[in-house]
Amino acid sequence: MSGRLMDSAKDRFIIPAQEGRAFKLPKDRKMRVIDPEGKQVADFLAFNAAEPREYLSTGATIDNNGSLYIKVGQYLYSNLYQPMLQVTADTVGAHDLLHPPCSPEMYRFQYGIAGPHPSCQENFKRVLAGFGLDESYIRTPFNIFMNTRVYEDGRLEIKEPLSKPGDYIELIAMLDLIVAVTACSVAESSCNAGRCGPIMIEIY
Ligand SMILES: [Zn+2]
Repeated sequence: MSGRLMDSAKDRFIIPAQEGRAFKLPKDRKMRVIDPEGKQVADFLAFNAAEPREYLSTGATIDNNGSLYIKVGQYLYSNLYQPMLQVTADTVGAHDLLHPPCSPEMYRFQYGIAGPHPSCQENFKRVLAGFGLDESYIRTPFNIFMNTRVYEDGRLEIKEPLSKPGDYIELIAMLDLIVAVTACSVAESSCNAGRCGPIMIEIY
């Protein structure tokens, strides 16, 4: 089945390890974010293409769904509480709506890395510039495949992603969107199981 669906993809491209891409996703178009090698997080931002000050809000999404997790059939909402994307399929079922993108500041604070290190923050900054959006547009991403466990006492633990090679989440656009996706750059923790791999995007 996946072979047939893959053949119907209008567009398919790889985001290499520790890089990012931004692209338009028209209303009613479906996209898949695929983990080709397994255990790799993809940070995901979305903006209303007509008015990019409306953005995918993880806070509004948590609020409207009444959950820190998201399931098939549920929506990702904007800061204006409008549905932006619906989850139409998900072969993993563990994603994160809580954490900011990794950044030079995070690598310095958490790992003592003061020198250059690829990061989702800088990759977002680079790819969003192509759409005229500066760094102030970067929000808390929908962190696809990031396996954050939330305990009853509020404690968080970032475990290795549950995604196996070829696993994916499928989203349909409710609006004309600008989307930005990164293959997360963290090799220092279990976030990406200690190494960094690519992410594949398919648009239908
Ligand atoms: Zn990252």
